[in-house]
Amino acid sequence: MPIKSSPVIVWFRKDLRLSDNLALLAAVEHGGPVIPLYIREKASGPLGGAQQWWLHHSLVSLIAALEKTGSRLVLASGDAEKTLRHLISETGADAVFWNRRYEPAGMATDKVLKQKLRDDGLTVRSFSGHLLHEPSRVQTKSGGPYRVYTPFWRALEGGEEPHAPADAPKSLKAPPTWPKSEKFDDWNLLPGKPDWARDFSDIWTPGETGAREKLADFVDGALGGYEEDRDFPAKDATSLLAPHLALGEISPAAVWHATKGLSRHIASNDISRFRKELVWREFCYHLLFHFPELDEKNWNDDFDAFGWRDDEKSFDAWTRGMTGYPIVDAGMRQLWQHGTMHNRVRMIVASFLIKHLLIDWRKGEKWFRDTLVDADPASNAANWQWVAGSGADASPFFRIFNPILQGEKFDAYGDYVRRFVPELEKLDRKFIHKPFEAPEEVLRKAGIELGETYPRPIVDHAKARERALAAYAAVKNHT
Ligand SMILES: Cc1cc2nc3c(=O)[nH]c(=O)nc-3n(C[C@H](O)[C@H](O)[C@H](O)COP(=O)(O)OP(=O)(O)OC[C@H]3O[C@@H](n4cnc5c(N)ncnc54)[C@H](O)[C@@H]3O)c2cc1C
Repeated sequence: MPIKSSPVIVWFRKDLRLSDNLALLAAVEHGGPVIPLYIREKASGPLGGAQQWWLHHSLVSLIAALEKTGSRLVLASGDAEKTLRHLISETGADAVFWNRRYEPAGMATDKVLKQKLRDDGLTVRSFSGHLLHEPSRVQTKSGGPYRVYTPFWRALEGGEEPHAPADAPKSLKAPPTWPKSEKFDDWNLLPGKPDWARDFSDIWTPGETGAREKLADFVDGALGGYEEDRDFPAKDATSLLAPHLALGEISPAAVWHATKGLSRHIASNDISRFRKELVWREFCYHLLFHFPELDEKNWNDDFDAFGWRDDEKSFDAWTRGMTGYPIVDAGMRQLWQHGTMHNRVRMIVASFLIKHLLIDWRKGEKWFRDTLVDADPASNAANWQWVAGSGADASPFFRIFNPILQGEKFDAYGDYVRRFVPELEKLDRKFIHKPFEAPEEVLRKAGIELGETYPRPIVDHAKARERALAAYAAVKNHT
């Protein structure tokens, strides 16, 4: 085979890793110098604030990892096509490789670009890596997309194994001269003042190494017992891999394979339960792939006539964790403090916004998109629609979580609430999820003055439930 001398551009997107990066490996095999590129694209929409914090640290980590291989990361901002064309003419690259992405705007850009660059005689190749399987290849027996999770899971569980993850290349051939790059420090991805992300690094280490460590810790620790403990927010019982997966610092295939061959030490139901969650992520992408308007339109259009309320004051109380329902407030404050929220509590706060406050799920989805470090176009939209009852295979609308009972069931000692709502720290366990029912004397002893140190409930649960059911009945009668 002739030795190639023209460079190949590897366009990094949501695959900020060197291992199991099939586009990068193919570039090495291509033979010429490799030019890693990251574009801050405007067209595919800016990341939310919390995820920009993550992106900053993730890029720092990627730049360092590339330097160890003798390479660099070229940085550019703006339109992808213009940037690529400019870089191609500057470097004489004859090929562009990337790993596929599945959010609608990104897919549209890639499709057009692939064709245009190929028409110009370049080699353009795309690879899989963000998902376990290509959504277009997972189909029901009748050839359509899955709309229900359980058969989707069965198809994946019994189907082809995800590819075995590939190692990172040890070295990357550099071009004779490096093309111009923007300065990373000029990107200013970190928050200014106030620095609302100051506590994020208590629990997060963005980047490929951090992702691998999180996975190893989880497999050695919380994976055993995952099925039973995963629903209890005070326990550190889940993997915390979501933000690493969201920006592709680790591939889902690597996570899947890390849970293989463990059955001698770990119960098979724990492993299977964890894999089922990974497959929920996959299912959400499957839905987004087949229904690109997932974050904008109700999957079930019966909900188009739903009577959402416009209530900025309540929305604001919800975002600040000041609703007067401790489990809701703890979740919303965990989101401020760490850019994440336990899955059980995400369901509770989402249900509260949608059903107790009758605020459109799309407002909640946007808030999460801006505040979650793991904000993901598929998982976020699909889960909000799941809670709203408007989604595919969704929880029925009439199943309305009672925030007091949910708290008492999943945070029985109130440890989670005490951690994130410190003004309730001294409150007796009996009232920790319903301070508004505590006698004056109990509140006084705990140093709480309702309406002053902690809010009274912004809605009454029983009345809000009735109101939600009436709003739902109106939609049902209308259709
Ligand atoms: C209203 C709402 C919004 C959500 N928004 C997002 C989001 O923007 N990004 C996101 O990654 N997850 C989202 N989730 C799903 C879930 O809450 C998080 O994936 C999970 O809490 C992440 O924690 P973990 O990594 O410790 O999960 P683990 O319990 O360790 O699960 C392992 C992996 O499985 C996947 N997963 C787990 N649960 C789900 C689920 N319900 N749906 C899809 N994938 C899942 C994630 O990739 C996760 O990292 C949302 C859930 C709700 C109810």
